[in-house]
Amino acid sequence: MANSAAHLSPQNVRGLVDSIEAFIFDCDGVIWKGYKLIDGVSQTLDMLRSKGKKLVFVTNNSSRSRRQFAEKFESLGISVSEDEIFSSSFAAAMYLKINKFPSEKKVYVIGGEGILEELQLAGYSGLGGPEDGKKIAEWKQNCFFEHDKNVGAVVVGIDPYINYYKLQYATLCIRENPGCLFIATNRDSVGHMTELQEWPGAGCMVAAVCGSTEKEPIVVGKPSTFLMDFLLQRFNISPSKMCMVGDRLDTDILFGQNAGCKTLLVLSGVTTESTLQDPSNNIQPDYYTGKLSDVLELLDA
Ligand code: PLP
Ligand code: CA
Repeated sequence: MANSAAHLSPQNVRGLVDSIEAFIFDCDGVIWKGYKLIDGVSQTLDMLRSKGKKLVFVTNNSSRSRRQFAEKFESLGISVSEDEIFSSSFAAAMYLKINKFPSEKKVYVIGGEGILEELQLAGYSGLGGPEDGKKIAEWKQNCFFEHDKNVGAVVVGIDPYINYYKLQYATLCIRENPGCLFIATNRDSVGHMTELQEWPGAGCMVAAVCGSTEKEPIVVGKPSTFLMDFLLQRFNISPSKMCMVGDRLDTDILFGQNAGCKTLLVLSGVTTESTLQDPSNNIQPDYYTGKLSDVLELLDA
């Protein structure tokens, strides 16, 4: 697809900011990179808040709960309240709630504390593990895995401790109970678990369960319409007055575009200008720029 994205400039930035009531920010690659705040973010958010813009933060990272993400923002010197944060861990719990998943049923989780905490806050009983795959491997000759027949949903997110036995548990739950929901927090191929490097994302863990179950998951993070519909309902703002700011074309920009929001791609994360301009790329944001703080600098220019 021909490149149709407009470079953000002193000429077009004011029109964009004035037309927007709510900015939806992706986190990694826009606000921070791993544990490091991206330069100028704090001042840019302050400026947008001072103009009365609503700010929303949406992350596909399921490793933390909203409470834990609020702590991360705080540790980086940015004050964001829990109810401005929408993580894919929270989205998984909200999907169950909205779809009236019975609270007597259990949820098996390949993932971390973030998902378990959100499930608990939504009134669900989550279980995970076994964490120590090596211990089980020692008695594997006689291994017969029992799974809890009361599990009615499996949630798969980022799990640095994923092992073969967790895959077996999830597979048994899904294969032996045709009604069992299979939910993926997100399918990102990679993420900045650290500032210096990209690491495999939840997409590879989800793919493992797809492989063993021959089933496709319900995805609740970006670019799912579930999460966007949830946001739109919460904030009651017309999509044309919302701008999705992200660093990833296939999650963030698509997420905004599918709903009819304006989109701004920043090149401070995983997407390079050459990927954006590549003729094989068919996702074009409305605008693109180097980093979020360009919005502040261009408005002042
Ligand atoms: N998933 C994991 C595990 C991550 O570490 C990251 C980024 O660090 C992401 C997803 C992507 O997060 P975001 O949607 O904020 O870019
Ligand atoms: Ca991102």
